[in-house]
Amino acid sequence: MEQEVIQPEMSYAFDGEPLLQPFIDEETVVIEAQGNDYYLDRQSGFESSARSYPRRLPIAIRRAEGVFVDDMDGRRYIDCLAGAGALALGHHHPVVVEAIRRTLADGVPFQTLDLTTPVKDRFVEALFSSLPKAFADQARIQFCGPSGADAIEAAVKLVKTATGRRSILAFHGAYHGMTHGALGLTGEIGPKLHVSGLMPDVHFLPFPYLYRCPFSLGGEVGWRSSLAYIERLLDDSNSGITPPAAMILEAVQGEGGVIPAPDEWLREIRRMTRKRGIPLIIDEVQTGIGRTGRMYAFEHSGIQPDVLVLSKAIGGGLPLSAVVYHKELDRWQPGAHAGTFRGNQLAMAAGTATLQYVKEHRLDLHAHEMGERLMAILRNIQKDKPQIGDVRGRGLMIGIEIVNPVDPPDALGVYPPNRKLACRIQTECLKRGLIVELGGRQGSVVRVLPPLIVTTDEIDQIGTIFAEAVRVSIVT
Ligand code: PMP
Repeated sequence: MEQEVIQPEMSYAFDGEPLLQPFIDEETVVIEAQGNDYYLDRQSGFESSARSYPRRLPIAIRRAEGVFVDDMDGRRYIDCLAGAGALALGHHHPVVVEAIRRTLADGVPFQTLDLTTPVKDRFVEALFSSLPKAFADQARIQFCGPSGADAIEAAVKLVKTATGRRSILAFHGAYHGMTHGALGLTGEIGPKLHVSGLMPDVHFLPFPYLYRCPFSLGGEVGWRSSLAYIERLLDDSNSGITPPAAMILEAVQGEGGVIPAPDEWLREIRRMTRKRGIPLIIDEVQTGIGRTGRMYAFEHSGIQPDVLVLSKAIGGGLPLSAVVYHKELDRWQPGAHAGTFRGNQLAMAAGTATLQYVKEHRLDLHAHEMGERLMAILRNIQKDKPQIGDVRGRGLMIGIEIVNPVDPPDALGVYPPNRKLACRIQTECLKRGLIVELGGRQGSVVRVLPPLIVTTDEIDQIGTIFAEAVRVSIVT
């Protein structure tokens, strides 16, 4: 295979100044001199047909820094996928890199199962001090291994063991992962279609999706109907649902289409679950660590969960997950949730650095400000574009729902989802140096999930590229 030394060379995503200084040690980086197509061809030859992101984002990544990613053709992108939200501080943030370097230099093992180390101890300290004090004071932590889905599995086993019950209440539009249990709790039907034997005893409830109200009512009357439905069901001796071991939800649904639950809805859910002794599991795998404008998304409403599921950003971009829960639930046996990779020391060091940086630099507030700025830009773009049905989000978790204004609207005047146009917009964004993701019903929601360190200039660039991508996508 031909190899060559790549000389430093700046790439420009936009006219004018280079966006980044050359990467460190660039002169000495030896890489295979092939473009995107070469790697994509090989990938499609080797990898499973279950691969997902490369189908809509056909690039091979060479390097990344901050909010930027460079591909093998020398093109630069603003990365609004950010490892599906795992990279709170973007790529190669100096404090994260330094934490990893220091840990390696100290001779700490790569992984320690669930044996303790000073690195782990510091991580737990940092994580607990990022939580509301009243919750942290009563909390226990179980490290999991190390995906979000595995932490969901642990949370479910925890509440089943503690309550002796078996039913779980989940929500339409929920996403909790791809293992048999977590997928059983997930709303999206596609990945479930061909898989038998998913976790049984899961019952789905209506989430307050204001734009496509499950009750065709919309607004406050719509989300209050969801509450009335749920409360009645909980007390209905003929609901078909045995007393639940837990209710699980995302305070802002992510993969389901960036759907924030109203704060008052969440407070009511907390009231009704507490009153009936139903543990409330909040899945903050995607929303945790500043993403929604607060350290944790449940904090907007002032409630506290019984069980909190964490992954993605808590490892500073490296694999790590955990369940943090009220000590009263701590009734499972030694080894009840084991797993080899529960002790990733580099991830814990990277996670501690990330937690501290987010806290010290108030990146939660920054995420709120940047999110508001971007949503204002997007709503402006929406004004004369009936194809943009809804712009919504919280902090830097933003969704743009793309609709088809040619087909008949529903009872609330909302047009059907338009996956085809959403895909086109995503492709046009990519061509112009912006990586965005699709989610939501039929993949019709363009998702913008930049690192929390994104600047106002970058937010404006995201808006400019998105506007242009929408313009050409609608014309073509
Ligand atoms: N819960 C939520 C809310 C998520 O967004 C995800 C991943 N997108 C998961 C769970 C599953 O995490 P993982 O992909 O690490 O298994």
